[in-house]
Amino acid sequence: MSNVYYQEKFEDRHNGPSSTDVEEMLNVLGVSSLDELIEQTVPAQIRRKPLNLPNALSEVAYLEKIAQIAEKNKVFKSYIGQGYFDVILPGVIQRNVFENPGWYTQYTPYQAEIAQGRLQALLNFQTVVTDFTGLEIANASLLDEATAAAEAMFMLYSARKNKAANVFLVSPNVYPQTLDVLNTRAVPFAVEIRVADANEDNLADDVFAAFLQYPAADGSVADYAAFTAAAHAKGIKVAVAADLMSLALLTPPGEWGADVVVGNSQRFGVPMGFGGPHAAFFATKEEYKRNIPGRIIGVTSDSNGEYALRMALQTREQHIRRDKASSNICTAQALLAIMASFYAVYHGPKGIQKIASRINDLAKLADKAIQALGYEQVNATYFDTLRFNVGEQAVGGIKSEALNNGLNFFYNGTVVGISIDETTTFEDIKTIVRVFAKVKGIAQDEVDLTDFVNALGSSIPAELVRTSAYLTHPNFNSYHSEHEMLRYIKSLEAKDLSLCHSMIPLGSCTMKLNATTEMVPVTWARFGGLHPFAPADQTSGYMHMINELNDWLCEITGFAKMSFQPNSGAQGEYAGLMVIDAYHKSRGEGHRNICLIPASAHGTNPASASMAGQKVVVVKTDEKGNIDVEDLRAKAIEYAANLNSLMVTYPSTHGVFEETIIEICNIIHENGGQVYMDGANMNAQVGLTSPGFIGADVCHLNLHKTFCIPHGGGGPGMGPIGVAAHLVPFLPNHKVVEISGDEGITAVSAAPFGSASILLISHAYIAMMGAEGLTAATKTAILNANYIKTRLESYYPVLYSGTNDRCAHEMILDCRGFKNFGIEVADIAKRLMDYGFHAPTVSFPVAGTLMVEPTESESKPELDRFCDALIAIRQEIAAVEAGEVEQVNNALKNAPHTAAVVTADEWDRPYSRQTAAYPLPYLKVSKFWPSVGRVNESQGDRTLICSCPPIEAYAEA
Ligand SMILES: *Cc1c(COP(=O)(O)O)cnc(C)c1O
Repeated sequence: MSNVYYQEKFEDRHNGPSSTDVEEMLNVLGVSSLDELIEQTVPAQIRRKPLNLPNALSEVAYLEKIAQIAEKNKVFKSYIGQGYFDVILPGVIQRNVFENPGWYTQYTPYQAEIAQGRLQALLNFQTVVTDFTGLEIANASLLDEATAAAEAMFMLYSARKNKAANVFLVSPNVYPQTLDVLNTRAVPFAVEIRVADANEDNLADDVFAAFLQYPAADGSVADYAAFTAAAHAKGIKVAVAADLMSLALLTPPGEWGADVVVGNSQRFGVPMGFGGPHAAFFATKEEYKRNIPGRIIGVTSDSNGEYALRMALQTREQHIRRDKASSNICTAQALLAIMASFYAVYHGPKGIQKIASRINDLAKLADKAIQALGYEQVNATYFDTLRFNVGEQAVGGIKSEALNNGLNFFYNGTVVGISIDETTTFEDIKTIVRVFAKVKGIAQDEVDLTDFVNALGSSIPAELVRTSAYLTHPNFNSYHSEHEMLRYIKSLEAKDLSLCHSMIPLGSCTMKLNATTEMVPVTWARFGGLHPFAPADQTSGYMHMINELNDWLCEITGFAKMSFQPNSGAQGEYAGLMVIDAYHKSRGEGHRNICLIPASAHGTNPASASMAGQKVVVVKTDEKGNIDVEDLRAKAIEYAANLNSLMVTYPSTHGVFEETIIEICNIIHENGGQVYMDGANMNAQVGLTSPGFIGADVCHLNLHKTFCIPHGGGGPGMGPIGVAAHLVPFLPNHKVVEISGDEGITAVSAAPFGSASILLISHAYIAMMGAEGLTAATKTAILNANYIKTRLESYYPVLYSGTNDRCAHEMILDCRGFKNFGIEVADIAKRLMDYGFHAPTVSFPVAGTLMVEPTESESKPELDRFCDALIAIRQEIAAVEAGEVEQVNNALKNAPHTAAVVTADEWDRPYSRQTAAYPLPYLKVSKFWPSVGRVNESQGDRTLICSCPPIEAYAEA
């Protein structure tokens, strides 16, 4: 037979089990085919017709296709500014962090002992933020600058002393996308956004906080010290959006009194990527430490008394607060925060000071030279941004001449704006000046800048010149040679368990393969180098890719249209609920304000619902874990007049395809509500059923779960929403780039297409899998889960299963019974580290349990290793139960075991070193060592230390 037509299938790389593996696993399950298993698992009434998608491409063919699409993007030099700047990403960070699965495949650092590397990098990020902003405490990233501003508004609103005050005073000189998102987020609340100058006269009694930008959106730099003092005298708080790079030269807002400072850290080495992903930051005063949205990394110690890090205040996490939560942040931007922190480590304070000074000097040079041509520059003070009022006649000429030279300026009426960034050179300024000269009819060769170079003067008011030091910690002053930097990055990476080591079986999080080919285009300049507000004729490659992805996801979900604006699942929930609300309003039913949510829902559901102005009514689940349909019906009828929506996860968070789902959707519709489906479990649906088919009206997709965007240690993610036809008109619009009609809600994110550059990953995945590959993935995910279930259920009770005793793509292992003899679920999670595994999801959706989701990407040998580990642990537990082993001093309670502990001269434990570190033979082949012993959870919360401690503290430890 000829092999001339042979082509490798990507599907065979993505789906873990080989065909013989599949046979063996089916035997264990006692079924004759994969389809038989699927029939037993997925209710017949919800099975859809096969997907209609383009033929699957090989990896090579996909890279050719996407390279052609990339050609359609034009990378001009960007002087647009508006919150997005071109950067130089140091090669050592690009290759060893951004393009390195050791960093991008990690999970959120809930298991601190095997996450010390990224926890340190994130602590460095918090230190960068507190140092530059001059505030006391910072979180480990938020989604973007605009949503960070909205979080600041809500934090200050919830914490306000004068409960009668409801006005958030917003300076008109903030970015339009920030104002847009503030407006959206204020809608469901009694908060009024009042746009007025940061002027003492505007500090009325009904104002609870003021918000301004520094430098302002137009680039001017003003002194707000007096305004802030006046606000404080009236009990009004001040929040500020600031540019991190400018703060190297400007007095930090914390020093002139700001209560909150937010912004984007994109300028610290993260490409623009047509809008994202980048890490926003949030810094505030110590007094708000318990109100800060998002995650905070804190210093604590481990069981050996050594320095260790963990996520602080975890008990304050959103799923515990539920509808009392004031923020729904779950996935944030960890990977990008890590990159920004490494940028600061790489350059150090002196390097960043030089970069910021060069930016400022080049801006002054352009200012002087262009003014000398007879143009008027409006900003008397500035860091990097100039505003030329060029008049009606010149603006067209400047624009076309700039485009001829491959330059994008900012335009607003007769004003031309130029923002200088880290990539700008002396030669670039010459080019810019020539554009302005040509329009005045001045010959190009008459442009000579040398006279200006030595007479630049200052563009920053004397009282705003920064005098305080920053980045004084040794971490920012030790790794400036590339060798040192590379080794620092690698030393941190080595402390973290990622998908490079073993499966990460996190229920609800779908830690599947993030294939290299999917990642490759993300760092191409033709995708990284585009400004989100670049002219449309430069971005047609992006639009081509986004439109294709839209069509494919519509086919997969059964919906009419997607919005790619939400940049996390929780943002998608919020956006979807706001769309539903706009729909009700359009029908004169804006009073509908009841959102039904099952008791087992993810914490972001009630949090998003309350942010969208809904009242949450909890629906019971029965003893099998299914939604109690009679309770749902009773509540839907009781609240029919005001029923807004139901939020439902499918398959359920208990890992079961509920048979009643269609009936549930009907009940909601009959009572005037809309169905919001939480699509986090879409990995069990693709190709077999769909939210649209089942009867949902809206659904978000976690592209960072089902569609292969890596978790990045806690972000980035993308949470696009799909909607049925009747909701399409209400999808989010954007103030700068129009993407929706008049009825569209205002923006939910800063950028029109959210974190656009990582959409490439999902695009690649679908293109290379095709309809059959995607459907096979879903079936394999269900096979892998049921295989684990069958292997483990005689050792651990499995909570909840479907009618035929099958689970969907995940299952819950009940560990509550072990408490009787002192073993907690946390002990099992920590002991798994000694066996080389990351714990499954702990205590969600049921306390005291483990939720296991293997995904389709794990092979049978890996699944077997994982099962062997859990079975061996069960035997260790049995020994405690039988009284053969002490309850307090055993391998479970003392887990995890570090190399230092196991190789210490002294060993006085009632079990061997071999048992501690090498309990199963496969570990001899490959062993991952936790870098610290069990971290002390409560110590870290009692004394919150959220930036790098001074070096003396290390000496003490
Ligand atoms: C992950 C998850 C979410 C939240 O998504 P993020 O992208 O982290 O904001 C919501 N619901 C469920 C069931 C999830 O698993």
